[in-house]
Amino acid sequence: MAAGAEDPVTGAQLVAQALRAQSIEYMFGIVGIPIIEVAFAAQAEGIKYIGMRNEQAACYAASAVGYLTGRPGVCLVVSGPGLINALSGMANANMNCWPLLVIGGSSDRNQETLGAFQEFPQVEACRLYSKFSARPSSLEAIPSVIEKAVRSSIYGRPGACYIDIPGDFVNSHVNRTSVRYAECCLAPPVSLADTLAVSQAVSVLMNAQRPLLILGKGAAYSCAEKSIRKLVDQCGLPFLPTPMGKGIVPDNHPNCVAAARSSALLHADVIVLLGARLNWILHFGLPPRFQPDVKIIQVDICAEELGNNVKPAACLLGDVSVVTEQLLEQLGKQSWRYSSSSVWWDDLKEKMKQNEESAMALAVQKSLPMNYYTVFHHIRTLLPKDCIIVSEGANTMDIGRTVLQNYEPRHRLDAGTFGTMGVGLGFAIAAAMVARDRNPEQRVVCVEGDSAFGFSGMEVETICSVPPLFLRPNSHYEQVMSAFGGKGYFVQTPEELQDALKASLADRALPSLINVMIDPLSDRKKQDFPWLTRSNL
Ligand code: ADP
Repeated sequence: MAAGAEDPVTGAQLVAQALRAQSIEYMFGIVGIPIIEVAFAAQAEGIKYIGMRNEQAACYAASAVGYLTGRPGVCLVVSGPGLINALSGMANANMNCWPLLVIGGSSDRNQETLGAFQEFPQVEACRLYSKFSARPSSLEAIPSVIEKAVRSSIYGRPGACYIDIPGDFVNSHVNRTSVRYAECCLAPPVSLADTLAVSQAVSVLMNAQRPLLILGKGAAYSCAEKSIRKLVDQCGLPFLPTPMGKGIVPDNHPNCVAAARSSALLHADVIVLLGARLNWILHFGLPPRFQPDVKIIQVDICAEELGNNVKPAACLLGDVSVVTEQLLEQLGKQSWRYSSSSVWWDDLKEKMKQNEESAMALAVQKSLPMNYYTVFHHIRTLLPKDCIIVSEGANTMDIGRTVLQNYEPRHRLDAGTFGTMGVGLGFAIAAAMVARDRNPEQRVVCVEGDSAFGFSGMEVETICSVPPLFLRPNSHYEQVMSAFGGKGYFVQTPEELQDALKASLADRALPSLINVMIDPLSDRKKQDFPWLTRSNL
């Protein structure tokens, strides 16, 4: 017998152990053939697995873990349709620059091209939606491919990665000694900006008449809150957070000019762009929303981003947290502080006052049904300061953003760069899992428009069963139908089933939903041939 032959390890175990070696903590998904054993093996390794109702929501959840923790969450999906459902989550993560690792089961290799169950060109399909998409060439290669995927997801501009695991890998085994194990990848390297570019930026900023800092979610992801807070306080600069940049510096800081957003963008002559893109969210940095000759000092970790839409006055390529320290050092040497008695500050304050007054006038209206401002005004007064706010919808998200306050970084999750609806409940589940492990007192509040809620509303079932609640009552799906005016039946006996079905068929006015309780242990009848068992599908 070859050395190590007595120490076999399965493909499922190799995947799970490799994820654990890369410090992966959370996995979301829907199990089925061929990846059931991967979920079991992951749980055996101490990875928290959350079974969801749709791969799309599972993938949104995994991506939010990446943003909140800086370590990718894993989304585990079955082949074909399961993987395709997850593509929305991959695209959303990639567009938001959030780390994510999707692992998809795929057809057994010896059935490929024969029309196998749920066969699909998954590695190719994921290429458009990810930074890295690959299938390990053998079981032995699984750990090193997983290391590469995790590393790619967090190095440089973060994003989504995909690993394909053929069904026949899952339960085959190899000798542990033949496996190419990989240690945990190093933390992402932190790069400083070129010192000449820093000096150039400082000289542009010191000559500004109407300076403005824009704080984006790249700065939140980079945990730049300390250095940015120092920059705001030390230099007395007005700042404007993007939607998910809210909370890097608290919204109630006196230098926050969010209430005068349009004016601030329109009249600023120098803008320091910290981890935000000049895309649709910032009106491309172009007139009529910006001055045609606005000077942009752009700080980004991605070289290709620099200069998009507007030629910058200074390009600071590097990690926003340390680049802000570089700026602070130079500005500190010159003891520079922007004057608090400038016309710019007067204009901004006047505009903020006007806008806050008109929002308040709407908030105190007594008419029913309530308007958005009244609703958010009341929510705002009750929310704990450290709660994570998840928000999506059109007016719900846009107006909610202006009224609801964030006091801490990475405490707001919304439709993001891709404007994706349906992310809310998945994000909330992820945030609740992370909060439970890091700060159990923290609350997660999901503020959703009706339409947005509808995209993934069934994830309320996941929410009710997520630890520590572990509620698993008979789910009353029939109440979903009655909630919308249809008829719901809860059925436990053959007589009830017959009655409900007869009544439903007879009722031509209303749709019906019959929720039938089935013994969880019931299965197919005994099969004559071993190849008819479920695992041989
Ligand atoms: P927002 O939606 O808040 O406007 P975007 O998602 O458009 O923000 O932009 C985030 C930017 O932050 C991206 O261009 C990304 O490359 C950049 N980024 C991500 N991480 C870092 C980091 N650690 N340092 C600097 N820039 C970063």
